[in-house]
Amino acid sequence: MFNKVLIANRGEIALRVLRACKELGIQTVAVHSTADSEAMHVKLADESVCIGPPASRDSYLNIHQIVAACEITGADAIHPGYGFLSENAKFAEILEAHNIAFIGPKAEHIRTMGDKIEAKRTAARLGIPVVPGSEGGVTDPNQAKRIAGDIGYPVIIKAAAGGGGRGMKVARDESELKAAFQTARSEAGAAFGDDAVYIEKYLGKPRHIEVQVVGDGKGNAVHLGERDCSLQRRHQKVWEEANSPALNSDARARIGEICSKAVAEMGYSGAGTVEFLYEDGEFYFIEMNTRLQVEHPVTEAITGIDLVHEQISVASGGNLSVKQSEIEFHGHAIECRINAENARTFVPSPGVIKHFHTPGGLGIRVDSGVYSGYRIPPYYDSLIGKLIVHGRNRVECLMRLRRALDEFVVDGIDTTLPLFRDLVSNKDIADGKYDIHWLESYLADG
Ligand code: ADP
Repeated sequence: MFNKVLIANRGEIALRVLRACKELGIQTVAVHSTADSEAMHVKLADESVCIGPPASRDSYLNIHQIVAACEITGADAIHPGYGFLSENAKFAEILEAHNIAFIGPKAEHIRTMGDKIEAKRTAARLGIPVVPGSEGGVTDPNQAKRIAGDIGYPVIIKAAAGGGGRGMKVARDESELKAAFQTARSEAGAAFGDDAVYIEKYLGKPRHIEVQVVGDGKGNAVHLGERDCSLQRRHQKVWEEANSPALNSDARARIGEICSKAVAEMGYSGAGTVEFLYEDGEFYFIEMNTRLQVEHPVTEAITGIDLVHEQISVASGGNLSVKQSEIEFHGHAIECRINAENARTFVPSPGVIKHFHTPGGLGIRVDSGVYSGYRIPPYYDSLIGKLIVHGRNRVECLMRLRRALDEFVVDGIDTTLPLFRDLVSNKDIADGKYDIHWLESYLADG
């Protein structure tokens, strides 16, 4: 087991990882930018190191500073959280060269899954169903036209290096293809420094369903069921739940088994998520995330398994704490991502939180790094906390969520709490009847 873990992240996820380390008796090192010296994870860590100015590229993405912080403090491992360096294969390799353990998968797996063309190819080879589309990258507009014609319109053009919903363009028919293709390429080039794109069938009304997996890097892996993340705005998840209201236990077991078998065969180590679109009873792989995800707590709520404990255990050469046959799914959990944004316009609202009061009681978990008097810096993403509610079934979960949202107080800034108070009382949500476009049309109608 590790003696000291450096947490190369900020906000709620830094605190989440810190809590797991404390439980395991591991010393913690927080690193932070000058904008984050008052952050909760910095206050609670055993040691902290300032790694640079506010801009992420000079601090949380600054590999040199982070490795130096590790050497100064004698940390023997780094947990990258999500975002920032969590899916940077080069970072994982540099740590290996410095004899620092990376709490995440092998660099080769990060690299393969980070290139969506390569990821899709690998997934298909491992028996995972994929969205019909181009064999690989497409560079020529005429070739794009031929492929799109074969697939059938509408099609979606996606950046190989894409992430965060960027670099995607839909073409409804041939007349839209050329412009969509060229825009996708130039956006991909500008955003990711890589203009490789591929084409796939655009699914009209799918749900986003993802499977949580954990591997031990020695050929063993388990799945922890699925999460339904269909409620999205601009391809960003807003509300996530487990189990999916759209799956029965047979479908869950079937797709779970396909995923755990695939990651076992890869020799995958650590936590990962295999993401699918789900339409008319069929699953279509879109990508694999090789890290802990924002929405991991809903899985923890229904399985009782601490995913960060599992990550740390396998990264230190240990085993998974459970076998597939021991994993049970209990009740239902929903997570609301609370952003410092106006609930109507989604304009960011940084500033001082005058008063912060979180709900409590049975089945309530709040993961947040903010507190009364905390000033939200304007430099980073706007997630200020996650409310995760568990109930014995979906109806009880929704009742409890409604109550918890009423108790939640964040004064001084705008938040997305009012949006969730609306959603929790909506009939379609209560019925579990929504696809990936539902939220955007709901917001457009509102
Ligand atoms: P990113 O890595 O940028 O998040 P993904 O490939 O995971 O990109 O896709 C993000 C979202 O874009 C999906 O959740 C879905 O809403 C939409 N999307 C992606 N591919 C398709 C597709 N083939 N058909 C319809 N929607 C899609």
